[in-house]
Amino acid sequence: MAASRINREKLTIRRMISLYAKRCPQAMSEEGHYAALNVYADKRLDKCVFGEEKPACKQCPVHCYQPAKREEMKQIMRWAGPRMLWRHPILTVLHLLDDRRPVPELPEKYRPKK
Ligand code: SF4
Repeated sequence: MAASRINREKLTIRRMISLYAKRCPQAMSEEGHYAALNVYADKRLDKCVFGEEKPACKQCPVHCYQPAKREEMKQIMRWAGPRMLWRHPILTVLHLLDDRRPVPELPEKYRPKK
């Protein structure tokens, strides 16, 4: 499944959300909450204006997430990030490399008009 950058990122996010939902003591118990968050994150990735050239979301100048969902994802990543290395080392290393990619210029149709 992880042939493209977007698909790989979807897989990484799915693993992180799943780990958080199952193991983090602060995880919400509301049924379906994390499945819905995962669907939301997938949709954001499907619509990412940078496509396959996307930067790490935390460095993105667009920030397409709703503020509350962005905060929740940050919390999940902070908790799950260090724990991912042992469970999914290849995905984690690739994710860390993605974090170092420079932020590309916005595609022309999304740039502010001068
Ligand atoms: S935050 Fe930026 S990089 Fe991440 S999915 Fe949204 S537009 Fe793409």
